[in-house]
Amino acid sequence: MHNIVVLGFGLASAPIVRQTMRTIVLPSDKYKLYLVTPSSTYHWPIAMPRAVLPGQIPDEKVLVPIESSFAEYPTEKFSLVMGTADVLDPAAKTVVVARNDGTSETINYDTLIVATGSSARDDVPWKALGTTEKTTERLRAVQAEIEKAKTIVVAGGGMTGIETAGELGFEYSQHGTKEVYYVFSETLPMPSLKENVRKAAQSELDKLKVKSLPCTTVSSATKKGDEYIIELRTADGSPKTITAQAYLPALGLTPNTAFAPAPMRAADGRLKQTATLQAPDHPEILIVGDAGNLQFSTAAYAYEQALHVVKHLGEYLSTGTMAPHQVSDKIQAAVTIGRSRGTGQVGSFKLFSILVWWLKGRFLGTDVSPLLPAGKRTSMAVLEK
Ligand SMILES: Cc1cc2nc3c(=O)[nH]c(=O)nc-3n(C[C@H](O)[C@H](O)[C@H](O)COP(=O)(O)OP(=O)(O)OC[C@H]3O[C@@H](n4cnc5c(N)ncnc54)[C@H](O)[C@@H]3O)c2cc1C
Repeated sequence: MHNIVVLGFGLASAPIVRQTMRTIVLPSDKYKLYLVTPSSTYHWPIAMPRAVLPGQIPDEKVLVPIESSFAEYPTEKFSLVMGTADVLDPAAKTVVVARNDGTSETINYDTLIVATGSSARDDVPWKALGTTEKTTERLRAVQAEIEKAKTIVVAGGGMTGIETAGELGFEYSQHGTKEVYYVFSETLPMPSLKENVRKAAQSELDKLKVKSLPCTTVSSATKKGDEYIIELRTADGSPKTITAQAYLPALGLTPNTAFAPAPMRAADGRLKQTATLQAPDHPEILIVGDAGNLQFSTAAYAYEQALHVVKHLGEYLSTGTMAPHQVSDKIQAAVTIGRSRGTGQVGSFKLFSILVWWLKGRFLGTDVSPLLPAGKRTSMAVLEK
């Protein structure tokens, strides 16, 4: 029996697991697939900037239950291991899994697919926080803080920060019901995009009466009772303090790769990944999505890599050779600013607000998110080519 072991069940791994089961494992008597995941739900990060607001998106669209949908597979072909990959030993071809019930299990692999993604800093549920219980608990806590808050601070000039500030502006500050501050370190948000796109995003936030604090960084955020004391360093270097009842830092992601031996990791913590999506020196290990260092950590690139594996895994298993992935560096960013506007960039073209709203902002992918882990869709329409 050839064991295919998949670590993680996020955006990148869902199409791989479903298509591999359908086209390779079930039709043959040679393979068994093990899926290792700490979470009993499929987490949908794309909608989290809206889902953190109370009452906006039902849980089952951003935390889609998965266990029952795997019941269709026979146990001799498929095993769902609820736990976290703890130690990878590429020489022995084993993964030690710390199971959610406190026990541990060592799984032997012939082919390993690492799709463990990344986690948000500061324990905000932008990404999954291990078990579904932990993610749900943090989501509820953030929603409750926002519900009660008079003043809310969002920090971070990337896409998560600006989309969250936009959602809060749309729901609250444009109507004067809550005060929303948005702190970021550059002159305009989203430094990786073109200036006209960044200016459009800023102008949309201004219309929603979000109080932007550019060229400003958070020095510390301390919780005292029900309030956060947020110390800022402003453009001229002077300190400023804001007292808020909700604080949403969106200050970057950390790759979930601690289980891999140090030589497999690049300087930024992601796993070294060749153009064939393999680990250098370990051709039986494939890496997809945010856990790998071949491309920027975006859903669009994660899907492209996943679809490459879907297309070429059969050939790889029979010949041992994996086709190279045509890496695209083209910028693809659709940025929602509130529930009716947006901006974005594809290549060097700025996207129209109405197009971003139509493709992304209306639903933030929650119209398809329940279909993806069930294998009934491969990716969100806006990301499909
Ligand atoms: C708020 C937010 C909004 C975003 N919006 C966009 C967008 O609009 N467009 C875009 O292109 N990109 C967007 N992104 C980026 C996108 O979400 C990521 O690139 C994408 O989630 C990567 O998918 P992945 O499957 O590689 O990793 P993940 O989605 O992180 O999934 C990894 C899975 O592995 C599990 N896991 C972690 N560690 C282990 C372990 N040791 N063992 C087993 N399982 C493990 C995790 O629980 C998780 O379920 C956004 C990100 C955030 C945070």
